[in-house]
Amino acid sequence: MLRVDLGQLDREGSVAVEASIPAEDGLWDGAGLLWDGDVVVKLQATFAGTGEVVARGTVEGRLRQECRRCLKAVDTPYAQALTLVFVSDGSEEDGDGGAYGFDADQAELDLGEAVREEVVLAVNPYVVCDPECKGLCSRCGADLNEGPCHCSENEFDPRWEALRRLKSE
Ligand SMILES: [Zn+2]
Ligand SMILES: [Zn+2]
Repeated sequence: MLRVDLGQLDREGSVAVEASIPAEDGLWDGAGLLWDGDVVVKLQATFAGTGEVVARGTVEGRLRQECRRCLKAVDTPYAQALTLVFVSDGSEEDGDGGAYGFDADQAELDLGEAVREEVVLAVNPYVVCDPECKGLCSRCGADLNEGPCHCSENEFDPRWEALRRLKSE
């Protein structure tokens, strides 16, 4: 899907690669991401020199995440500009920071792994449903956005403390 025909790239100098990757596609296995619908990848691959391919474009989709404070489901739009650099394995520039390797003798260059890696790095794992989210009470687990729980009232009341001790014994 996310493949560049290296023969075509050689002939035309630039090749557009577009794909809608389903949320359940194997590409996302182990990425720890939950997508809502397809992830649309649009890249333009060009030869940037001998044994070097650059793919530029965008990745867009909707992520299903959890509020880090109250665990409520949060749908976040995801849009990311990408620049992927591939350096052929035999090239002198191999090992350059941030570049992906590829085998220039192959008929195709698979962009999938690189796209996945960049997306995983770019996703913010710490989302909140609202900047004002009060989160869950660490003691009783109540959603504090729906109002205060009773823990705070009881916290400094020694009678409750005594009762709690009785219960746990
Ligand atoms: Zn929240
Ligand atoms: Zn509580």
